[in-house]
Amino acid sequence: MTLLRDNVHYICSLCGTQYEVELSRVSCDCGGVLDLDFDAPAWSVPSDQDFGLSRYRGVLPIESEWLERADLGASRTPLLKVGSTYAKCDYITPSGSFKDRGAFMLAALALGLGAKSVIVDSSGNAGAAMAAYCGRIGIPCTVVAPASAPPGKLAQSRAYGATVVAVEGPRSAATDAALAMASDGGFYASHVENPFFTEGTKTWAFEVFEQLGDAPAEVVMSVGNGSLFLGVERGFRYLFDQGLTTRVPRLVAVQAQGWSPLADDVAEDRGAPLADGIAIIAPRRLAQIVRAIEVTGGETRTVGNDEIIATTKRLAHGGLWVEPTSATAWAGASHGSRSDGPVVVSLGGAGFKASV
Ligand SMILES: [Zn+2]
Repeated sequence: MTLLRDNVHYICSLCGTQYEVELSRVSCDCGGVLDLDFDAPAWSVPSDQDFGLSRYRGVLPIESEWLERADLGASRTPLLKVGSTYAKCDYITPSGSFKDRGAFMLAALALGLGAKSVIVDSSGNAGAAMAAYCGRIGIPCTVVAPASAPPGKLAQSRAYGATVVAVEGPRSAATDAALAMASDGGFYASHVENPFFTEGTKTWAFEVFEQLGDAPAEVVMSVGNGSLFLGVERGFRYLFDQGLTTRVPRLVAVQAQGWSPLADDVAEDRGAPLADGIAIIAPRRLAQIVRAIEVTGGETRTVGNDEIIATTKRLAHGGLWVEPTSATAWAGASHGSRSDGPVVVSLGGAGFKASV
């Protein structure tokens, strides 16, 4: 069975070198991050009888047989009106975070490439999502985590049957260890490096488009490595280019004070982050995130821990139990909107993962 659609390649975001999609290809030889060179086909309307993320098979770069084998049924998460704002409730997925969307794609890819094992470095939701989808495809998963990672998130990975390896030292030590483990037939399923992950997070934009009938005026997300942010921008760009929407939304990135490379606000003594899912001080795709904000006329906002705690509680008391990382986006949205039209905020991680 063919794995990929025609003419799908990796392409370096810095120098433009093309590579075949292979098990061992992680980044460009020049060090640049890879994007996907993929001319998505024209939009085909998914059937309402068709559930799961593979309902978007018509516009994804992997052939449907592989997508269906990796699918855990995550799709059409609720779009809920809360006051004057829409909440996109991505905490309601099989693994409890938006990372399902990308993990689904990486699992289909691992399966199609014949991986013997999957290795992921993560301090939380990406590892848990990858562990869940590896359970689905029947390939052993190892989650390499910094020793400081939240214990609850690692317990979730273990529950799915993954082996969790804790690595002392900085976050980069976990990445180095994962890369070393992936060298012998293993697949390094990185939500940061692998561009198939953002192909999966494009489905966020597709769902919101189907639910609203157009693109919203503004989308507000908490941003760490940008794996949702970049997929959402590309997804809405695709829909606009197809003539299906009237606009590409303004993208608003929200980060925590002292942990915000986008706002040039990175404190010397940061302590333990409250919004642990976005505590990334040097994201690999920073230049791409900055560009997505610029081209959509968006902006960056930062919020303090007091706001994050109060917002987490306020959302939970309204029936929406999300983790502080997600509440960060809602807190940022509460600063107001400059857009004339619907505002959608991503609530991307469940409260059972981390709480206040
Ligand atoms: Zn390059």
